[in-house]
Amino acid sequence: MYIGRFAPTPSGPLHFGSIVTAIASFLDAKSNGGKWLVKIDDIDQPRVIRGADAIILNSLKELHLYWDAPVVYQSHRINEYNKKIDYLKKLNAAYLCECSRRDINKLAITGVDGFIYPGICREKKINLSDRVSHRVEVKDELIITQDCIQGIVKQNLSSDIGDFIIKRSDGLFAYQFAVVVDNYLDGVTNIIRGYDLIQSVPRQVFLHQLLDIDVPEFSHIPIATKFDQKISKSCGNKIIIKGNEISIWLKCLAFLNQPMEAYSKSMNIEDIICEAIRCWSKNLIKPLRQIEIDDNIHT
Ligand code: GLU
Repeated sequence: MYIGRFAPTPSGPLHFGSIVTAIASFLDAKSNGGKWLVKIDDIDQPRVIRGADAIILNSLKELHLYWDAPVVYQSHRINEYNKKIDYLKKLNAAYLCECSRRDINKLAITGVDGFIYPGICREKKINLSDRVSHRVEVKDELIITQDCIQGIVKQNLSSDIGDFIIKRSDGLFAYQFAVVVDNYLDGVTNIIRGYDLIQSVPRQVFLHQLLDIDVPEFSHIPIATKFDQKISKSCGNKIIIKGNEISIWLKCLAFLNQPMEAYSKSMNIEDIICEAIRCWSKNLIKPLRQIEIDDNIHT
């Protein structure tokens, strides 16, 4: 069965780009007769704004984006994450690292997503303490995946990324790792999210394979930009939903390049959503990195 999800970080209220992601993942799940879940990505505690989760969930309800199972929080899954870290250590696929950011800056070269860790601690015997992080040992092989919107994504993790962190020295689990364990716990089969995460796919595919978890199908939609900058939850791009639900839905459908002829502003939101599910065509979404939005989108 198709299981999709929307996984906002509660770092602020939803903005136009995150609403587009919610709507795209919702429509894809519903048009495939699937379930749509909501997961609050609150593992990166320093980014979490208190109360933002409730505001996000309320916005989803205002937009009639109703989820099909109780909302899950990453912060409630610490035991599950620790179990999978232990499993990777038993497999000898993960190791402890005592390098500071400064140590790495001195030696490392830049890859596709920050510094490529040069493997300094790979062979060292390091004891567990509150100063060490956990890294996963990557392989020197090409990982090739097909994104349903953007086409082929490929990386050699060894030369493009390096052994990457799965649990930080401050005890927080890395996004790349937590999201894979979440896919397992939630049975996620399809992921639709913003293009800014496309470079994460090979790392996540690699972790799925190591943990023996089915790899979901990935689709990365263009990110919404304003003055060429990604709009984000934490930088005050407030969108007023109440009273503007229909125009927001229509703007999101237009952003996703869906046929617009069937809609009018006089339709009610349920009819718009029914029609949007019926006409949903993921392959019409433009395979672009970003799309600049009008200023008036922030109603
Ligand atoms: N939590 C991420 C965000 O809000 C999305 C992560 C994901 O979809 O894998 O941008």
